[in-house]
Amino acid sequence: VTEGPGAADSEALATLHRVFGYDAFRGEQQAIIEHVVAGGDAVVLMPTGGGKSLCYQIPALVRPGTGVVVSPLIALMQDQVDALRALGVRAGFINSTQDFDERRMVEAEFLAGELDLLYLAPERLRVDATLDLLSRGKISVFAIDEAHCVSQWGHDFRPDYLALSLLGERWPDVPRIALTATATRATHQEITQRLNLPTARHFVASFDRPNIQYRIVPKADPRKQLLAFLREEHPGDAGIVYCLSRNSVERTAEFLTANGIQAVPYHAGLEAATRAAHQARFLREDGLVVVATIAFGMGIDKPDVRFVAHLDLPKSIEGYYQETGRAGRDGLPSTAWMAYGLNDVIQQRKLIQSGEGDEAFRRRAAAHLDAMLALCETAQCRRGQLLAYFGQDPEAAACGNCDTCLTPPETWDGTIAAQKVLSTVVRLQRERGQKFGAMQIVDILLGKRTGKVIQFDHDQLSVFGIGQDLSEGEWRGAIRQLLAQGLLAVEGEYGTLVLTEASGSVLRREREVPLRKEPKKPTASRSRSTG
Ligand code: ADP
Ligand code: ZN
Repeated sequence: VTEGPGAADSEALATLHRVFGYDAFRGEQQAIIEHVVAGGDAVVLMPTGGGKSLCYQIPALVRPGTGVVVSPLIALMQDQVDALRALGVRAGFINSTQDFDERRMVEAEFLAGELDLLYLAPERLRVDATLDLLSRGKISVFAIDEAHCVSQWGHDFRPDYLALSLLGERWPDVPRIALTATATRATHQEITQRLNLPTARHFVASFDRPNIQYRIVPKADPRKQLLAFLREEHPGDAGIVYCLSRNSVERTAEFLTANGIQAVPYHAGLEAATRAAHQARFLREDGLVVVATIAFGMGIDKPDVRFVAHLDLPKSIEGYYQETGRAGRDGLPSTAWMAYGLNDVIQQRKLIQSGEGDEAFRRRAAAHLDAMLALCETAQCRRGQLLAYFGQDPEAAACGNCDTCLTPPETWDGTIAAQKVLSTVVRLQRERGQKFGAMQIVDILLGKRTGKVIQFDHDQLSVFGIGQDLSEGEWRGAIRQLLAQGLLAVEGEYGTLVLTEASGSVLRREREVPLRKEPKKPTASRSRSTG
């Protein structure tokens, strides 16, 4: 048999049929596999569910030697290896969950050339013994999964990934393929640079997930809104609900259970055995809801997750996209639903200020949050905003499958409202030397004589009661949007409101402030059938 052009190609296709039982390659899989089988380096950006695994598994099977897969997802290695073995692929892993004998056995198999694929945690590659082991065997390809973990500014940074650049130096003849579902230009560049892949070919798939409907609703009573959303649109469906704190995870899971929805909690504070049991139930059972912190979901391959709900604002669009991307991997209609309100903005801004990290780190975190807020507040197509964030042109100006496309939000001229808010903040600070949070500002605008208003004589301010034309919800919405637009800022541990440099232009009437209209009565969904 001669190895003409296309030989690798047909061998790859034969492997796809024979081992995996699939008819055809998807998207760019074939081009990627051909390139790597021929010995080339590759950087692959593909959304979750796009089919990244085959891109290194098939080259590992086609090329002589063992494919070494670097992955941070230790908890999933056993499952991945079991699934491959069930297909007849000779796979093994080395990680900290094994005992000495198990590891010895895998090492022996590798050295004897009896492994097609070997999964390793990145920290293993900092150990000389592992590098020595690898040097004594034959390696067909290095796959670096979840490659965005090398990005120091990303949300999943793993210092051990920085050491992976040595793979290219130590094994210059072994092709390397880096894969991720995170696709901002900055991350893409960092992966290429830090993993030392200057001559790699780049494969960037579309990040559009057309079957996912994106919706962001104003937060009123989030658990009740969630319950209504589940009952009306996803009864009996499997899904993930993300909350920021462990406490809120626990309470939300209890609340759903008490209301007849099968739900289990998942967060880092639970026993490892409980977490594993809940994850296993989610994968195996139909219609289970997992309420989780972000600790849940990375690498979870459950095709029929019908919804992902956020009760708290994610810290970045990357995080939001990855989390929502766990819905609808089978291509069927799914919903990404989020409840978002003023307190989310205040809380996240406070977290960044009081959090660790130097000034540059904080600036990056603030920029990530700003982009996320802009997505929440946009009156344009959400999908368009998401794709633009990832550097892709949306195919249509409006997708027709997000809330802003389905019910375009009304905007109103909020210039005067903005001036009222900002002047109240200014008065408090200039006339009284005081700073207060959003609640007190709203009470002053509405002219409410609460205990705290009386205590501080705020009913004597000239701005007291100047905002009776709007409701409390509308004022909170206006303040939220001013914060999101950077026309107002949050300070200190109490989250007091202060002006920004940009506030001046509003107070001086040099600019207009268009605002999104707050729905009169926030509802969980558009499709509520009864009033
Ligand atoms: P990713 O790692 O990009 O999130 P996976 O590699 O886990 O995606 O693939 C997602 C799902 O799609 C898996 O169930 C996988 O078996 C399936 N899949 C991948 N490629 C193909 C293909 N060419 N034909 C059919 N199914 C595929
Ligand atoms: Zn849209």
